[in-house]
Amino acid sequence: MKADLPRLMMMARGRWTEILTAAGMPIEGLENRRGRPCPKCGGRDRFAAFPGLAERGVVYCRFCFNKNTNPRPGDGLSSLRWWLAVDAAAAVQWLARFLGAEGAVVVPRHVERRVRIDEHRDPDPRWAEMAERWFAEMPDHWRARAAERLGLPVEVLIRLMVGWDFERRATTWPMRDPDGRVVGIRLRCPVSARKWAVSGSTAGLIFSLDLRGGMPLWVAEGPTDTAALCSVGLDAVGVPSAGGRVDWVASLARRLRAPEVIVVADCDDAGAMGAERLVRACVTICGVRVIRPPDGIKDCREWIVGGAHADVLRAVANAAAIQQLKVRCQQ
Ligand SMILES: [Zn+2]
Repeated sequence: MKADLPRLMMMARGRWTEILTAAGMPIEGLENRRGRPCPKCGGRDRFAAFPGLAERGVVYCRFCFNKNTNPRPGDGLSSLRWWLAVDAAAAVQWLARFLGAEGAVVVPRHVERRVRIDEHRDPDPRWAEMAERWFAEMPDHWRARAAERLGLPVEVLIRLMVGWDFERRATTWPMRDPDGRVVGIRLRCPVSARKWAVSGSTAGLIFSLDLRGGMPLWVAEGPTDTAALCSVGLDAVGVPSAGGRVDWVASLARRLRAPEVIVVADCDDAGAMGAERLVRACVTICGVRVIRPPDGIKDCREWIVGGAHADVLRAVANAAAIQQLKVRCQQ
């Protein structure tokens, strides 16, 4: 039996609760319920299953499945695309198999896992799967070209698990919590340098899982500056935005037993504000120094691509004042 789409959609009518459940979506009993945890990205009240769920199969998540995401909610097929994280053709194929339109047997998906409300602080394992898949799917010579465009060695993009999202035509940069678990994906267009994130991502830190620890922890803003610091052999971590996730940087510094945190601040107001927040968050863990690229140099990557080695950066850092928590003893 040939599986043309209108015919499939007709066959699926009235069976969407069953279909989405078979795809691993914990949807039973949720028809017409709003304000639920999202089975994909968690939270407490961001998910809704619309009335007529069996008929039409429409679900919605304020964070990861809404009018601004691709796909966006509309019918059961787009719910399936969103849930399985596949393109339309693959979703149609899955549906055709399920409905027996091609005589195939349904293969249950193993990767799906319920988000448990009492463990909402644990990141959804799907983020790590997404990061790994995009890393694996990026052809080696594309990664080499992306590195070349940045003026950095390709090894550093491998260490940071940079991949490629064919759908959005962007490099993918896993963002992590202080324990190294993937909590979201940063996207960067290699041509325009436009930066955004996969919908539903938690803003997290960018760092390589092979940091040695026991060394100064260098903090930069954004993925490419972080990659530049890594490329000269420094233990580096990137914050998602100026002043963002400073508490996580402090946790990482503590976990890595960093004797010092060195902030490479951007030379603008946001950079100065971000540096100040980092100092306040990290000074309870260890000494903190703030440095900036020399005048006329835009950012950390330009500085390093222009020839600054680790020794140069260390010398600049050592010349900067160290900020430490002063403990005053009352006599
Ligand atoms: Zn969601």
